[in-house]
Amino acid sequence: MRADVIVVGGGPDGLTATALLAKGGLKPLLLERRPRVGGAAVTEEFHPGFRASTVAHTLGPFRGSLLAELGLLRQGLTLIEPEPRLFAPRPDGRGLLLWGDPEKELSGVPPLPGSDLRPPRAAARHDPARPRLPAAA
Ligand SMILES: Cc1cc2nc3c(=O)[nH]c(=O)nc-3n(C[C@H](O)[C@H](O)[C@H](O)COP(=O)(O)OP(=O)(O)OC[C@H]3O[C@@H](n4cnc5c(N)ncnc54)[C@H](O)[C@@H]3O)c2cc1C
Repeated sequence: MRADVIVVGGGPDGLTATALLAKGGLKPLLLERRPRVGGAAVTEEFHPGFRASTVAHTLGPFRGSLLAELGLLRQGLTLIEPEPRLFAPRPDGRGLLLWGDPEKELSGVPPLPGSDLRPPRAAARHDPARPRLPAAA
């Protein structure tokens, strides 16, 4: 096979670069050393029947324009905003639950030891000026 460009590594960056190169009319060859592409955003079965991205799991720095540029929604990508956003189980059967909803955000966080105070709200996460992804079609 003749390739115009060789991309080494099939993580999010390699996959994006390869797709954009192909869209631009070149013939890229993507080389990935693992049996699956995806890099740190690969979906894996971490427990029988439970699949998730085992490292990266939020769309923080994702460039929203790529959704349209690569037709990702058309190809079946679904964006979700999970509520609760995070659950960290503890060996004693209890766990830490964090919500995206600012009103509920700290409801699952236990008070600081010896007081009824809870950690201050992470206000920056709820900055209304913060850029948001376009809603899924
Ligand atoms: C703990 C952690 C949590 C993170 N959480 C988030 C998050 O929630 N949201 C977010 O947006 N970002 C998150 N990130 C950052 C995100 O994972 C990276 O920005 C992203 O994975 C970078 O993509 P990449 O393609 O450059 O590299 P990678 O994802 O690392 O992919 C590199 C790929 O190259 C392959 N490779 C390496 N060497 C070779 C070789 N010699 N030959 C062939 N293939 C090779 C690897 O197997 C791998 O598949 C997190 C990072 C870490 C470490």
